[in-house]
Amino acid sequence: MRITPLGAAGGVTGSCYLIECGLSRVLVDCGMFQGEPDADARNLECVGINPAKLDAVVLTHAHLDHCGRLPILVKCDGVCGLQGGFGKKIWATPATVDLSRIILLDSANIQEGDAARENIRRERSGEDGQVSPLYTIADAEATMNLFAPLALSTPQEVAPGITIQFHESGHILGSASVSMTLRQGSVTKLVVFSGDIGPRGSPLLRDFERVGTVLGDADLVFCESTYGDRDHRPLGETVDEFRGILEKTAWEKKKVIIPSFAVGRAQQMLYHIAELYNSGRCPRAPVYLDSPMAIRAMELYRTHANLMDKYARATGFGGDFQKLLPELALLLTGEDSRKLNNSWDPGIIIASSGMCEGGRIVHHLKHNLWKKGVAIVLVGFMGRGTLGRMLVDGVREVYIQRTRIAVRATIHTLGGFSAHAGQTDLLEWLDSLAGKKNKPRIALTHGEDLPRRALATKIEQRWGIKSLLPSRGVPIEF
Ligand SMILES: [Zn+2]
Repeated sequence: MRITPLGAAGGVTGSCYLIECGLSRVLVDCGMFQGEPDADARNLECVGINPAKLDAVVLTHAHLDHCGRLPILVKCDGVCGLQGGFGKKIWATPATVDLSRIILLDSANIQEGDAARENIRRERSGEDGQVSPLYTIADAEATMNLFAPLALSTPQEVAPGITIQFHESGHILGSASVSMTLRQGSVTKLVVFSGDIGPRGSPLLRDFERVGTVLGDADLVFCESTYGDRDHRPLGETVDEFRGILEKTAWEKKKVIIPSFAVGRAQQMLYHIAELYNSGRCPRAPVYLDSPMAIRAMELYRTHANLMDKYARATGFGGDFQKLLPELALLLTGEDSRKLNNSWDPGIIIASSGMCEGGRIVHHLKHNLWKKGVAIVLVGFMGRGTLGRMLVDGVREVYIQRTRIAVRATIHTLGGFSAHAGQTDLLEWLDSLAGKKNKPRIALTHGEDLPRRALATKIEQRWGIKSLLPSRGVPIEF
C-alpha cells in the first residue's frame, strides 16, 4: 500500500492524492494548480499516471483547487503523453455533485473564452499556431456524467479492497473529510484525508465532525495546514466592524461594494447582512447579488438545507435567502448589472470575481473607486498581483480597462471571514485522531511551508508526533 501526494504538497493548490492498494488505484481530489508561475504547465501534465487505469476518484469538495483537473483526467486526449481517459465513478457528497457542476462548467467556459481570445490575438499579430482550451464545456459535461452521489457517514467500496466514508468538514456546502479503509490480504489500514476544514462556529454550515471519535484509530492522517501558523480574528469582532461600515454608509446614503467569491463567501455575506438587519443592529438598504454563478450556488443552499447548522435551522432559514432578506435583488443579466453602474443610489453590491481580476466586480470598481464615501469591503483572500491585493495594499490609483482610476473610496479589509480553520481549530480536528493510544502518522499538506512547519511544531508539543511534510510525487509507503 502507498499514497502519493500529486499536488498541494508544500503549496495550497492542485490537491490530489494517488492511493495504491494491491491492484486498486484511487485518486482523492484532482484539483487545479492556480496562481503559481508553473501552474499552467502542471495542469497540463494531467496527474502523471494513466487515467484509464484508475478505479475511482473521491472528491472532498467542489472548490476548483480540488476538482478543477477532473475534466482533463476524463478527456485525456494525450496532452499528458498518455492515452485513454478516466471513465469510472467520481464519488462525492450530493451537495458537492451539484456545486461541482456550477464550478466545472464555469471553469470550462473561462478556458474556452481565454483560448478564443488568445487565438484572435495570434491571428491579428500574424503569429502561427492556435491554442486549445485546457478543457471545454463538453469535457466538463462528460465529467459530470461520472459523478456518483454518496451521503455522509455511508461506507462505500470504491475499488477492490478500498472502502470510503465521508464526514462533514464544515468548509463549504457539501465539503467532507474522507476516511478510507485499505485491505490487502490480512492487513487493514485506516487513512483519513481532512480535505479542507472550516472554522468552528461559522454561520450557515455545521462544524466539522470529529472523525476519530466515530472511527477509532487511524494509521495515517493527511491534514490541511493552510492557516497552520495562526488563528483568525474572532468572527464576532469582524461582523461588528462590518456592521459599523454598513451603518455609516446607510446614513450617508453611499454604496458598499463587496468583491466576493461566488460560492460560499457571497452566501455567507448575505447571511450576515440578514442577521444584522433582522436583529435591528443596522439600518436596512437595498442588497444586490450581482453574479449569476453566486445566484445558482445560492439556490443549492435550499436544495441542501439539511446541511445547515442548528442556528440557521432555528431561524427558519431553510436555505431561502430572500425570505430572510427581503431587500435582496438577484441580478442575472448584464443589463441589470450595468444599471447599477450608473446610479448614485445607496445599496450593497456583492459581485465576483473574488480577487477583482474579472467579472462584474471590475465594472463596479471602475464606477465607484473614485467616489468619496463609497465603502469597498474586502472579505476574501487576495492573491499576489491581483487588483484586489493592490487595494488591500493601499494604492492610490489603479488602471481598470486601461483607464486610470483614483482610489478615493474607503477600503476596508476584513480578515475574519475565512472558510479555513485556524491553528486552534486544526488541532481540535486532529485531537480526535491524534489523542489516541496508537498514535497515527500525520502528514501535513495543503499549506505553504511556513504554516505547515508551525503546525508540525504544535503537533509534536501536544502529542509527541513528528509530522511528515510530504513533497509532490514522493510516495508514503506502509
Ligand atoms: Zn476548499
